[in-house]
Amino acid sequence: MGDFVALNLGGHVGDDPHAVESNRTLVADAFGLGRDRLLFMNQRHGSNVVVVDGPWQGEPPEADALVTTSTDCALAVLVADCTPVLLVDQIAGVAAAVHAGRPGLMSGIVGRALDAMTDLGARSISAVVGPSVCGRCYEVPAAMRAEAARISPAAFAVSWQGTPAIDVAAGVVEQLRVRSVAVQWIAGCSRESEELFSYRRRHRTGRCAGVVRLLDPHQEHDAHTELDAHTEEEHQTRGQV
Ligand SMILES: [Zn+2]
Repeated sequence: MGDFVALNLGGHVGDDPHAVESNRTLVADAFGLGRDRLLFMNQRHGSNVVVVDGPWQGEPPEADALVTTSTDCALAVLVADCTPVLLVDQIAGVAAAVHAGRPGLMSGIVGRALDAMTDLGARSISAVVGPSVCGRCYEVPAAMRAEAARISPAAFAVSWQGTPAIDVAAGVVEQLRVRSVAVQWIAGCSRESEELFSYRRRHRTGRCAGVVRLLDPHQEHDAHTELDAHTEEEHQTRGQV
């Protein structure tokens, strides 16, 4: 409640662990899965990609991208300003959830996740990029902006005050487009929208989740249906109390 109202899904942020676990169970239920098959990672702002095909044995691994070929688990990425990226090749049957903040943009976590998916047979990948802090709201020192723009020119931004800023999501979207990934970008700035958790707006806050699950290839679904379903799920997750 309070700072964590509206379905906080993040552990280790000061919320009641039982409330978080009960919220995570609600999301697992919505995907028709047992709680142990909704897989979170121990996000580190690093560049580690983990391939998984079932429940964690023990603690979740330190990673900022999860990749699976299993239809029996859902992958979750937690955010409160960072960019959540959900990737799927429904034909090849490969999905990924990626945590892409500024460090992830710089280290190329999205590219690493795409590489891991390609290694597993993915050829035509689509992405849903969730809401995150926008470029206007992410003021940084000029040198940091220059460094980000060297990695991804689209990350170059200007803040509401007219000072140097970084648009992490725009940079991530550019990294996806360079790899020929079809992008669906969901509108919204976490700092400006009260419907989203934002660490920049309020340090003690919850986490939203982007969740992706592969559908059984024997069922009649195409990639768009799949992505739309996840988009709806993401909205639903944020909207519930
Ligand atoms: Zn903003």
